[in-house]
Amino acid sequence: MHTQAMALLQLETDLKRSLKRQEFQLSYQPIVSLKSGSITGFEALVRWHHPIHGIVYPAEFIALAEETGLIVPLGYWVLREACRQMKIWQVQFPETPLTISVNISGRQFLQSDLVAQISQILQETGLEPRSLGLEITESAIMENTEAAALMLLQLRDLGVRLYMDDFGTGYSSLSYLHRFPIDTLKIDRSFINNVDVDTEKIEIIRTVVALAWNLGMDVVAEGVETNKQMNQLKALKCEFGQGYFFSKSLDSEMAGALIAQKQCIAI
Ligand code: C2E
Ligand code: MG
Ligand code: MG
Repeated sequence: MHTQAMALLQLETDLKRSLKRQEFQLSYQPIVSLKSGSITGFEALVRWHHPIHGIVYPAEFIALAEETGLIVPLGYWVLREACRQMKIWQVQFPETPLTISVNISGRQFLQSDLVAQISQILQETGLEPRSLGLEITESAIMENTEAAALMLLQLRDLGVRLYMDDFGTGYSSLSYLHRFPIDTLKIDRSFINNVDVDTEKIEIIRTVVALAWNLGMDVVAEGVETNKQMNQLKALKCEFGQGYFFSKSLDSEMAGALIAQKQCIAI
């Protein structure tokens, strides 16, 4: 226990220092239209370039950043950087409409100044609110439904898009769903793997797509890894996909090259 506590403490110290030294970087994964194969936007995913350990993935530090509160300054850095990059791409590729989505953790979502901060970041970077999507997990919303509903309404009034991330994995109440101004459901990748062979999963996705359609929401399938999965999703009328089949997440230069190519995949 002592060793574990010491390791955690070290990680926390490292995290604080890295934020000051700007050792974080964003990686961008395309979100693709399943109808046309074209890129509709990117999800920004944070990477930590640790001076000793090399690239550290979010699974290893986001939970600790949440616990220590460091997620708040880190989260604002991610938002600012993602908006700044998207504005550059929009200027560079004016004929390609693109959005950027950013993950907002549970703790960040409940910050009372979240709306003011996002509004300021949009002004600073010159990005239009509708070009920014915020990905909030089902669990973060369901933890405190009253406060969440209020926050979501304020964010909607600001004009940003709202995504429910990892849909289907958390404790969720369908009866609440219509009360939240969510634009898009992102179906968790655990429902996508085997979707080409598992009839139960096929039925779940069919139901989620119908539910989203009835509530006026879009659907993104996360973790699409094979051509078969993509075809099944298309047959189920799922509009958008994201996953290794289209592309892994890329640094800004490679993501820019992909935008220039326009088509992410020939469909
Ligand atoms: P997420 O928001 O659901 O992001 C999708 C994750 O799935 C990413 O992992 C992505 O690389 C991975 N992925 C994408 N396509 C595939 C695929 O086809 N197969 C498989 N097996 N995986 C795929 P990553 O980048 O390691 O991020 C993990 C999670 O960490 C994210 O899940 C998100 O919850 C969190 N995260 C990432 N960046 C941030 C951030 O800036 N802020 C916060 N609060 N959380 C973040
Ligand atoms: Mg996400
Ligand atoms: Mg997700």
